[in-house]
Amino acid sequence: MLKDKTALVTGSTSGIGLGIAKALAAQGANIVMNGFGDVAGPRAEVAALGVQTAYHPADMSKPDDIAAMMAYAAEQFGRVDILVNNAGIQHVARVENFSVERWDAIVAINLSSAFHTARLALPAMQAAGWGRIINVASVHGLVASVEKAAYIAAKHGIVGLTKVIALENATSGVTCNAICPGWVLTPLVQKQVDAKAAALGLSNQDATKLLLGEKEPSLQFTTPEELGALAVFFCSPAGNNVRGVAWNMDGGWAAQ
Ligand code: NAD
Repeated sequence: MLKDKTALVTGSTSGIGLGIAKALAAQGANIVMNGFGDVAGPRAEVAALGVQTAYHPADMSKPDDIAAMMAYAAEQFGRVDILVNNAGIQHVARVENFSVERWDAIVAINLSSAFHTARLALPAMQAAGWGRIINVASVHGLVASVEKAAYIAAKHGIVGLTKVIALENATSGVTCNAICPGWVLTPLVQKQVDAKAAALGLSNQDATKLLLGEKEPSLQFTTPEELGALAVFFCSPAGNNVRGVAWNMDGGWAAQ
């Protein structure tokens, strides 16, 4: 379905971003990957699906790096047809104890980077008459929890940005939507499980149960594969008139 299209997925060396990159590659899209840590392994997983891959090491907190990545993607594949803004980090502390440096980093990576990639990707999408921008927000783009001020402010912000981009392009073939996962067992969440286990003297299994039980009625993690399938839906013809939604896949979290 996505043969001859190019998808750029930020933060695709791990977790949800890698899951979405693989789902889009399975539909034939060439993939521009980004993110830190091991690159060769995740890139080989995507390439094994029979598509072309490229990688750019841009730090999503740096607008100049982002501009270089977007130029590199255009140079490699002509243009970006599908932009997935996924890179994100977390930090947990009450507002009065929240590090200013962590606040700035979270807002830059989880929110401002999506403005920069989108502003640079949109002109070519508009000229082509087709494009998809998919923002990986969070259920925390819809509801709040304690001790996550920067993350929740950034995720509510990206849901708002999603709606503006959708409206500004509403009469064109360019759509913009957000995905709002509940808990997904990735390194980002494992750190929170580990912190809970250490603070309460629990096993990994008991801390995981407690984490899910506090928020997610299904008591199950959402998987990167399920989120990848939703991204594919947004890119399908059935998604042509889905514009500006913030679609939660959260085991009932936001329904409470
Ligand atoms: P993860 O830690 O597994 O992956 C994060 C990815 O972002 C990695 O590839 C990492 O290298 C990259 N990254 C981090 N900082 C970066 C930077 N400055 N520049 C470029 N890349 C950077 O985390 P994940 O759980 O897969 O999270 C992916 C997205 O999903 C995030 O936006 C997160 O907020 C969101 N999310 C996660 C969950 C969850 O439960 N895991 C729930 C809701 C939303």
